[in-house]
Amino acid sequence: MTHLVVHQLHKSFGGVKAVNNVSFEVAPGELVALIGPNGAGKSTTFNVINGQWSPDCGDVLLEGRSLIGLTPQQVWRFGVGRTFQTAAVFGSMSVLENVQTVLMSRDRRFFDLFSKATGYQQAEALSLIEQVGLVEMAHQRCQALAYADVKRVELALALASAPRWLLMDEPTAGMAPAERQALMTLTHALAKQQRIGVLFTEHSMDVVFGYADRILVMAQGRLIAQGTPTEIQSNEQVQSVYFGRQQPVLVSAVLEGVP
Ligand code: ADP
Ligand code: MG
Repeated sequence: MTHLVVHQLHKSFGGVKAVNNVSFEVAPGELVALIGPNGAGKSTTFNVINGQWSPDCGDVLLEGRSLIGLTPQQVWRFGVGRTFQTAAVFGSMSVLENVQTVLMSRDRRFFDLFSKATGYQQAEALSLIEQVGLVEMAHQRCQALAYADVKRVELALALASAPRWLLMDEPTAGMAPAERQALMTLTHALAKQQRIGVLFTEHSMDVVFGYADRILVMAQGRLIAQGTPTEIQSNEQVQSVYFGRQQPVLVSAVLEGVP
């Protein structure tokens, strides 16, 4: 089995069933969007997959091997990358140095902030920077970059560990529509070229319906629907959970406004 398999996952916080019996799969090279209102359980699902939380029960399998009980670092080494939050990019370091620090970590080299990573695997680092379209900015400090370019740096950092799977929790949050499209076009191309299975959460429906091969819909901890964008768009249960049955409004039009 070459897929990322989430099997009957449960995770509660006190009385809240944040993730309630969720099962799905992601194939290599597939882009899968996980959508749902705030509090639906999307981030909790991510955090169980990446090793931050242990589930109450259920399993996460990668190529037949369970990831349960592994630390986030072990899950990362196993090939599950994720886009780092902006805070994980060192603003005072250049784009190149940021990528080099991740390469050092991947190679288990000791990294200290004072000696920095200057010189380490420069060709490989530059190639990653080229993949995300930032060659001209390689030597700029990250704090001087535009927000959309910082998001590209995050993508380069995630790719630096050569992941086979990528978890992206709201990758385009805070971006203007044109920048969102550009980042997702890039992510889509890299996923297809490198056969990386991508699971991403996203609130902008132009991104979800424009780039996902498949969509998973969560509400109140449960997976209420999954299918192609066309299937989801016409799914009555999705419509009713989001809007109530009395409001026959197009999912694509109204989900746009869901925070
Ligand atoms: P989403 O990412 O879809 O907005 P979350 O996975 O963050 O949803 O949250 C799902 C539910 O679990 C929410 O009711 C949230 O309040 C609760 N929850 C998430 N994380 C915690 C936590 N660390 N402690 C307590 N409750 C949590
Ligand atoms: Mg979330």
